[in-house]
Amino acid sequence: MTIENIDKRYVLNTYARNYVNFVSGTNATLTDDKKNNYIDFTSGIGVVSVGHGNKRVADAICNQVQNITHMSNLFAIEPQSLLAEKIAKLSGYDVACFFGNSGAEANEGAIKIARKYGETKFNNKKFKIITLENSFHGRTITTIKATGQKEMHKDDFAPYPDGFSFEEKINNIYNSIDDETVAVMIELVQGEGGVQPFCKSEVQKLATFLKENEILLIVDEVQTGGYRTGEFLASNTYEITPDIITMAKGVGGGVPIGIVMTTHKDILVPGDHGSTFGGNFLSTRASLEVCNILEEIKNNGSLDKTISYFEEKLEVFYSSNKNLFTSLVGLGLMKGLRVKDADTLSSIMTNAFDEGVLVLKAGKNTLRFLPPLTITNHEIDEGFKRLENAVKSI
Ligand SMILES: *Cc1c(COP(=O)(O)O)cnc(C)c1O
Repeated sequence: MTIENIDKRYVLNTYARNYVNFVSGTNATLTDDKKNNYIDFTSGIGVVSVGHGNKRVADAICNQVQNITHMSNLFAIEPQSLLAEKIAKLSGYDVACFFGNSGAEANEGAIKIARKYGETKFNNKKFKIITLENSFHGRTITTIKATGQKEMHKDDFAPYPDGFSFEEKINNIYNSIDDETVAVMIELVQGEGGVQPFCKSEVQKLATFLKENEILLIVDEVQTGGYRTGEFLASNTYEITPDIITMAKGVGGGVPIGIVMTTHKDILVPGDHGSTFGGNFLSTRASLEVCNILEEIKNNGSLDKTISYFEEKLEVFYSSNKNLFTSLVGLGLMKGLRVKDADTLSSIMTNAFDEGVLVLKAGKNTLRFLPPLTITNHEIDEGFKRLENAVKSI
């Protein structure tokens, strides 16, 4: 049986899959079993931030798993402690971390911290959390409800937990706050919703208002975190100090990890939260090495150069195809081109794959780019050359 047949027979049908069989990868280049190569402008949805087959991460993982892969959180885990220290230092915030295994799980942790804060810090119970339209916060029952997209709140999975509502715009949040509101949860650049950055002054105004009113600001940096937008966190770029920040995707370089960090270090006590796998030797050792690499390329200037080079090439591609695209959006290496309609976007996606460049879709009409942060200029050139070929016939 082919991989496609086996997959269709034995894996639940939850993804509209492309049956290419990748067999090797180096940085932003993948090769399939027919020896076709592809420039990867997706990094597996912003995950493989330091590229495919990264030698330093592979060595760190090999060395670790030859000794200890896993021990329970009932004992200290050295790379977990070191990673928490690293995350706190790179973020610049006075935070402590909890480790889980995914973005949704990190957001669940954030919601639990907020709920307990709302239960224990005030005379009345506060539990409501406000999110934004077109947000994406995960696929668990609670994070589906936190996600501000009506079509995600299908009756198929109801009932959902109470206490979530979403607003169309940041400036609408103020009016929907009541004395039961405990937190506002936002992305700073909406990823799945269409690579949409929010206005810095609106975010800062909201952050100040929430602080004055003792309402928590949760920033979901599952996609933006780990230098994706240029700084370690998009919160750094926006110059705000959230109460709770979540990370996942890029910070593990492909090893599953979810992180929730908070300045409210006294809320959770033993027994409140936990995870079997979260923060184990394997994932935290890998993430520590990913963070070291990313910190180095930020500090030596190469990340900023890569971002500028990618922006330059994307700008040229956008300018020469204004018949297809209506705007260029995004921040850092989280970029999008708004396509004039959904059909055109589908054709671009199909042709791009055929030409050997991998791109993503976001929202209804955005062509999304999340290349590895280590992508070379040569890979960027090659990727855009293939994209130009992909759109020629459209
Ligand atoms: C991907 C994503 C999630 C969900 O992460 P999973 O690891 O798939 O659970 C949550 N929030 C944002 C902003 C994301 O981009």
